[in-house]
Amino acid sequence: MTCDQSDILLTEQEAQRLFSILGYMTNFRSPKKQKYTLDDCREFAPFTLAINRLKKEKGAIILAHYYSNPEITFGIADFRGDSYALSKQAADARENIIVFCGVSFMAETAKIISPQKKVYLPALKAGCSLADAVSEQDVINLKARYPKAQVICYINSTAAVKAQSDICVTSSNVYDIVAASPAEQIIFIPDIYMADNIKIELDRRGIKKEIIPFGGTCCVHDKYTPKLVEETRQKYPQAKIICHPECPSDVCLLCDFVGSTSAMIKYVRQTPAVEFAILSEDGIVNTMQYENTEKVFYNYSRTCGSMKRNTLANTLAVLQNPAPEAEIIVEAQVAQNAKRAIDNMFKEVEKK
Ligand code: SF4
Repeated sequence: MTCDQSDILLTEQEAQRLFSILGYMTNFRSPKKQKYTLDDCREFAPFTLAINRLKKEKGAIILAHYYSNPEITFGIADFRGDSYALSKQAADARENIIVFCGVSFMAETAKIISPQKKVYLPALKAGCSLADAVSEQDVINLKARYPKAQVICYINSTAAVKAQSDICVTSSNVYDIVAASPAEQIIFIPDIYMADNIKIELDRRGIKKEIIPFGGTCCVHDKYTPKLVEETRQKYPQAKIICHPECPSDVCLLCDFVGSTSAMIKYVRQTPAVEFAILSEDGIVNTMQYENTEKVFYNYSRTCGSMKRNTLANTLAVLQNPAPEAEIIVEAQVAQNAKRAIDNMFKEVEKK
């Protein structure tokens, strides 16, 4: 067999490997949202082969958020997860190079946790409507206005905002950490819908605290409405409707289950229900489709454009010859202060 023939065979084997996974998933980029085809996988295969070879040669680890494209999460990532799981992985990684297929605040968090490592974000400066909603100066102003309040920031925030905060939370631990806070007054940034959902959860637990919301909303989850939930319920009465706590509270109250990305995936895995409407990002539906091939997912998810800016091509470029702006740099003092807020979160979670 010639060198060319063995390359062709290898590429075809890789395409078959990818298709054995992606074949269960909806290609949300396709016009009719059909399932991934073997031809789609043949396009991915040369890239996934090159990336998987190069990451070993360079001693790099690839972390990918569930919302990344599935050829990334299932084709090249060493770990896929939500913000909390990936921040733990970044802390525990032995590799000196982290390629983070996510958005800026996530890659910044990895850098803050592991300052000695090189962290790259393939999707250059990929933003997030939540992280961009609050500035460092906003937090300084809020602290001056409410000097007794504890500042709790959702992980979807910039390093500078984390540095001004007392403790960080993710959607998987937000309710328990707020409930356990010794403060009676809490500034919660930057998700105003999550702040509403915290108030409802605290009421449910019989806990009295003043929550001072500030910031914006997630441009993916803020589009869901109670009307859509009611219409979905009528159209698919057997379907479980599930959503993320970044959705408006009047949507959350109507859903069958509300939880973090990991909690939603676990719920779908464990419940005997077979039909679902997922009010969240496309990427988690792909993971659910792969894990639950016998279950049906109606088409209600939405796309986070920033997450989808991570591609096989720009991930390969980062491993081959990274552009200077692909490397995440966090100023040392900011990183030190932000790390305190993140470490406070890890300590609280470990108490459980
Ligand atoms: S889905 Fe929403 S919160 Fe997550 S990165 Fe995209 S804009 Fe930000």
